Amino acid sequence: MSQTPDKSEIRGPRGGAAPGGGAARRICVFCGSRFGRLQQYRDQATAVGAAIARRGFGVVYGGGHVGLMGTVADAALAEGGEVIGVIPHALDSREVSHTGLSELHLVDTMFDRKKLMAELSAGYVVLPGGIGTLDELFEAMTNSQLGFDPKPIGLLNDHGYYDDLVRFLDRLTQEEFLAPEHRALLWVEDDPEELVARVVAAIG
Ligand code: AMP
Repeated sequence: MSQTPDKSEIRGPRGGAAPGGGAARRICVFCGSRFGRLQQYRDQATAVGAAIARRGFGVVYGGGHVGLMGTVADAALAEGGEVIGVIPHALDSREVSHTGLSELHLVDTMFDRKKLMAELSAGYVVLPGGIGTLDELFEAMTNSQLGFDPKPIGLLNDHGYYDDLVRFLDRLTQEEFLAPEHRALLWVEDDPEELVARVVAAIG
């Protein structure tokens, strides 16, 4: 067992957010800490943040105001939604943390962050992003296939951003490194509203 003292801390509420409904009413969003090259990525992030809030669900995410992460948070807050950020102390500077969230949880490590984001939510939505986003996606899939964290995982493939990844996952299945039932754990949709609706329906 870890002897590391628990240095986690919660700040908030910081905005006029609606009351949350606990983890069962929240969706964890993984996405880029950058905006990406095209405006369409920001539009997708806005659509997903707003769609989650309009369905009465809260957003759990990495806590930054940067890139698509900030776009998702702002869109959900603008719809009156609950938005909970989870960020390591080391990234909690004025440049990085979003200052208008319902709650901001400060944790020690990136590992603690992923663990807490999982505990605070009932499903995942993954938007365009970089290495951090892929790391979060694959950890969620690994935990789901092993049965540690069996939650719906939705991947937004608007404008084909993830086409190559989806093809590669199918290759893993063809080569028998990934079981078809585990490949099926990842739901791929190209429409933000449909993706959120599918994850929300699965959460119940
Ligand atoms: P990336 O896709 O490499 O931009 O990383 C984005 C993901 O990693 C997000 O879902 C966050 O949880 C985490 N992350 C990476 N950079 C930051 C940052 N500057 N602030 C907060 N979270 C970050």
